[in-house]
Amino acid sequence: MEQDRVSKEITPKAKDYSQWYLDVVLKADMADYGPVRGCMIIKPYGYAVWEHMQRDMDRRIKETGHVNAYFPLFIPKSLLEREKEHVEGFSPECAWVTIGGGEELEEPLAIRPTSEAMICSMYAKWVRSWRDLPVLINQWANVVRWEKVTRPFLRTTEFLWQEGHTLHETEAEAEEETLRMLHVYRSFSEEMLAMPVLWGRKSESEKFAGALRTYTIEALMGDGRALQSGTSHNLGQNFATAYGIEYLDRNQERQRPWSTSWGTTTRLIGGLIMTHGDDAGLILPPRVAPHQVVIVPIPPRKGDWSEQVLPKAREAQVRLREAGIRVHLDDRDTQQPGFKYADWEMRGVPLRLELGPKDIEKDQCVIVRRDNREKLFVPMGELPTRARRLLDELQDGLLARARKFLADNTTRVTSYDEFKEVMAGRRGFILAGWCRDPGCEAKIKEETKATVRVVPVEGEDGPGGCVRCGNPSPRDVYFAQAY
Ligand SMILES: [Zn+2]
Repeated sequence: MEQDRVSKEITPKAKDYSQWYLDVVLKADMADYGPVRGCMIIKPYGYAVWEHMQRDMDRRIKETGHVNAYFPLFIPKSLLEREKEHVEGFSPECAWVTIGGGEELEEPLAIRPTSEAMICSMYAKWVRSWRDLPVLINQWANVVRWEKVTRPFLRTTEFLWQEGHTLHETEAEAEEETLRMLHVYRSFSEEMLAMPVLWGRKSESEKFAGALRTYTIEALMGDGRALQSGTSHNLGQNFATAYGIEYLDRNQERQRPWSTSWGTTTRLIGGLIMTHGDDAGLILPPRVAPHQVVIVPIPPRKGDWSEQVLPKAREAQVRLREAGIRVHLDDRDTQQPGFKYADWEMRGVPLRLELGPKDIEKDQCVIVRRDNREKLFVPMGELPTRARRLLDELQDGLLARARKFLADNTTRVTSYDEFKEVMAGRRGFILAGWCRDPGCEAKIKEETKATVRVVPVEGEDGPGGCVRCGNPSPRDVYFAQAY
């Protein structure tokens, strides 16, 4: 089984990007397909990556003043319908429970596609006065959306996420919160995942139906397509109206609060894989890697490795661990070093430490970087400091490389012919004028498969012309084909 997983080749990226992605997910032991279509098992190695991401995201969410809670998985049909009455165009692909304990239920229960309905109905009960505001709650949970086309991590029927739901006294406070969390997502993505993103507003057609304004972070994948990686919504008073949330303001007058919601999901793992992986497998940024260093001891030609090699390897393991580095000693005696190299390379471990009898004689070890395969001879005395420095360099190097890719694959175009040419070729982001007419946007999508990904909120204003129709464009926007 182990031998099988590693020995089979990964489809080269250039040959078939989408197959390359699936090969990496399965062979790096990140996930497997479950018995229900579109549902994946996140395997221990993939889940460990998620745990590192989750821990850091949770810290950032709490540092910005939020607290965690947990709300139920089932939403009564009537509660979900209220949202539909007030929010035009909201139609999540729900899964329904109609039988419980062998009996037909009086009211069908939806499995949450998102928790606005559940959480806002509780807020209606909890909020009475301006003194109860703001409400700043986050939930870590699973949600279900009946997707037609699925792909591990990128689009699955059930996925894990965090969803923040907040209430505020004023529109300005809600807007500030919406942008604050967008920037939490942006810095998380860049600092932890080494995944640079564009950020800004969604167009009307791409925004969350219930939102006044939706903001997004978008990353660029290796095949030139954009990945929406986190969204933050200013929901206005729509949900407060739908669920009857009211409070007495400072003048004892009835008011509706302003709400926001924001989320990131296990989809970020898909983004991580596509941003950094290569034809040998995964490349993990050190900050989210389950093992930052893997030690592969090399047995002597003759004799027992447990006499000399293993004790030295354990010593190196202890010293790295004491320096705060996540280190794994691969002391499997059922596999050869060559197999182990390929295995850990596939799983994207940032640094591989090789240690054999000859190295021990010289009081050194060999470190191989996963990103550029550079091989370094490191004196044992310097091991923890050198390893720490290399991990930092690797983290920064991955971000710099991804930033360069993003810049190299962002094209400013002035004519529609050029637009079509880029989208039919290497794709990437296109920066161009757009008249803000949804009809024009729809035509562009029909003709090039590209959508407006980001409307920048900072930067210089036009004057410019729409790339398709030539009408005035207040500011250039980013187009791309998207996942
Ligand atoms: Zn136009």
